[in-house]
Amino acid sequence: MYDVMVIGGGPGGVTVGIFSKRRGLSALILDDPQSLSQAEEATIIDDWPGTLKITGMELVKNMRDHAKALGVDFRDEKALKITKSGDLFSIKTDKEEYTGKTVVFATGAKHRKVMVPGESEFAGKGVSYCASCDGPLYKGKKVFVIGGGDSAVTAAMMLKSIGADTTLVHRRDELRAVDALVKQVKKSGVKFFWNTILKEIKGDRFVKSAVLMDMKEKKEFEEKVDGIFIEIGTVPMAELAKECGVELDEAGFIKVDRNQNTNKKGVYAVGDCCNNLSKKITSAVGDGAVAADSIFSHLSE
Ligand code: NAP
Repeated sequence: MYDVMVIGGGPGGVTVGIFSKRRGLSALILDDPQSLSQAEEATIIDDWPGTLKITGMELVKNMRDHAKALGVDFRDEKALKITKSGDLFSIKTDKEEYTGKTVVFATGAKHRKVMVPGESEFAGKGVSYCASCDGPLYKGKKVFVIGGGDSAVTAAMMLKSIGADTTLVHRRDELRAVDALVKQVKKSGVKFFWNTILKEIKGDRFVKSAVLMDMKEKKEFEEKVDGIFIEIGTVPMAELAKECGVELDEAGFIKVDRNQNTNKKGVYAVGDCCNNLSKKITSAVGDGAVAADSIFSHLSE
């Protein structure tokens, strides 16, 4: 029997474990070994305060080692089903069944993929889903950013400021990003391919070119490029939460209040699966600390 059962072993989930232990609560973290957190996928993290540069793998490993050293029970198991009986929750995994007083969803979000030939093949070899992690590798090189929302626009401006020859490739002739960002990007020196979609990514060991389609002219063309940043939003991993009646927003993110409570008593959510704006490791960690405090208050009632 656990006080806290966390689903997801990325930065948000691990922080719930650490802060729960500091509050004297017993904690279990279930992490699907087949699914890497977005933090683990990051080639380089250079916005984690106190650490100039660290790989995502190393940062997440350090966090997990910290949790394990404090006595958090960390299991490489995939949570499959959650049930409630009285005040207690049960989580059935691919190996065991666990019982606890509270459940925390720290299931994260996946980058939305364009689903074109070459995208998976060149992931990490010129195709990136994280401009802030991989951008510095492209100083003086030519990059495309795919998308037209805030993420794509901020990524394009960041890449341009790093010194990359940057073109934003958007499927329409109007950006979805907020006005202030639209004004900034138009003055930033970022180039645009409007009404253009990515059809294929080509290369050998690394990306060499992109096949694009001008939708207005109905013309396909190929451009040499070194890096392709795909910034077309994220897809929350909230299926399990939905199945147990947790309320989601229109985009499928778990709705939480400022204390990380969901609409279900004893059920919390942290990090990128929530409807918060800032999709950052620092925010997920903050959510985790807040959730542990909320759980402590709830269990002390
Ligand atoms: P988003 O707002 O959903 O925008 C996704 C963009 O990608 C849209 O322009 C969309 O085109 C395009 N797109 C979607 N699927 C595509 C596909 N299959 N092929 C080509 N293009 C595709 O996602 P986001 O930009 O990641 O933003 C998500 C949230 O985070 C938003 O609430 C945003 O405000 C917030 N955010 C804020 C900041 C900030 O600095 N304040 C920074 C990043 C993110 P259409 O426009 O045609 O639909």
